[in-house]
Amino acid sequence: MASYFFKNARVVDPVTGLDGDRDVLVVNGIIDRIGENLSASDAQTLDFTGKTIAPGFCDMHVHFREPGQEYKEDILSGAASAAAGGFTAVACMPNTDPPIDNAAVATLILKRAEGLAVDVYPIGAVTKGRKGESIAPMIELRESGCVAFSDDGSPVYNTKVLRTALEYASMLDVPVIQHAEDPHLFKGGAMNESLVSTQIGLPPISRLSEDTVVVRDIAFTAYVDGRYHLAHMSTAGAAEAVRDAKQRGLKVTSEVAPHHFSLTDEALRSYDSNYKMNPPLRTAEDVLAMKEALRDGTADAIATDHAPHAIHEKEVEFVYAPFGIIGLETAFGLSVTELLLDGWLTLPQLIEKLSTNPRRILGLPVIRIEEGQPANFSLLDLAAQWTVDVNDFRSKSRNSPFHGRVLTGKPLGIFNNGQLILNN
Ligand SMILES: [Zn+2]
Repeated sequence: MASYFFKNARVVDPVTGLDGDRDVLVVNGIIDRIGENLSASDAQTLDFTGKTIAPGFCDMHVHFREPGQEYKEDILSGAASAAAGGFTAVACMPNTDPPIDNAAVATLILKRAEGLAVDVYPIGAVTKGRKGESIAPMIELRESGCVAFSDDGSPVYNTKVLRTALEYASMLDVPVIQHAEDPHLFKGGAMNESLVSTQIGLPPISRLSEDTVVVRDIAFTAYVDGRYHLAHMSTAGAAEAVRDAKQRGLKVTSEVAPHHFSLTDEALRSYDSNYKMNPPLRTAEDVLAMKEALRDGTADAIATDHAPHAIHEKEVEFVYAPFGIIGLETAFGLSVTELLLDGWLTLPQLIEKLSTNPRRILGLPVIRIEEGQPANFSLLDLAAQWTVDVNDFRSKSRNSPFHGRVLTGKPLGIFNNGQLILNN
């Protein structure tokens, strides 16, 4: 492996508390030296003046479509998209075909990801076939490398199943990640229930669909002393419930997707199916609640819910289009533009949400930028302004509502597993 010398970078590490200009020498994938005014003759030198090195980002919520729908995304294209977005690790939701509800599928995903710069971790299904009826072989899934359990794409709605899942996952010391949705309230809906849905005549989904399930789930989490993680939190009501649970000392965590802190349901007036996601875009009040939740720690992580779909699938009448958008390559720019520049989060706080906290939730080693540690970096340009162009994406899919948007903050690439990957 080669040696790399990152010269004069701003190194920000919320774990060690470091925030300052440093030279970083990486030899054989390990941080060999870090300090000021270093020199290294045998290494490839990269001038990082004005650029930032952060602990590698971890997106704990992505949908890579392998196995089953590789025309949308596969492990390789998904990992390339992650690297371009500054992510050195991702956790893949199990709604593949077949789903990750047995060791063979989890092992296949890990096998496909071997040797990549991006670490790919499978999330096991809570129930067999993600049907919500009987518990998947959770011990087998955990032993084969799954870092959490979720039926994401669908809720674990049956309370008896939920209770058992929380008990098993607790025994295995991993969280149950809930897609909080009441299927009866959700059914047939295409967008958030609001003034906008009334005016434009699209079938509504009440916020109660999310709020009530979260409240119910927290009661179960308290009862069995489980670990509960709320995926893609989107409503003020859910944030309130999570905040209250945390104050009570429960092991409850949550994540927010960039689209839920940067867009409102007003965008639906365009009838553009790239604004169709689940949970749906909510109101300005909810967007504000997500920012507040990120600021006060109610929301622990930023996760993209990267959900690739082919163009022909999205280019249909709004109500028939599938839910979901891609997000890996716009997450950092949206985070800087919406959260950092507006003062909602400091840079170390933002990095905690993108790197440290998701790793803690999944039980992965937390990254420290120190001598002797593996070099696992997100390489960032905080000041760069750029225009999102879906044609530049490494993802196989193009279903982003942010095409044409000007963002501040651009990932330059990553360093991980001894490999340097730079965007052009
Ligand atoms: Zn998802």
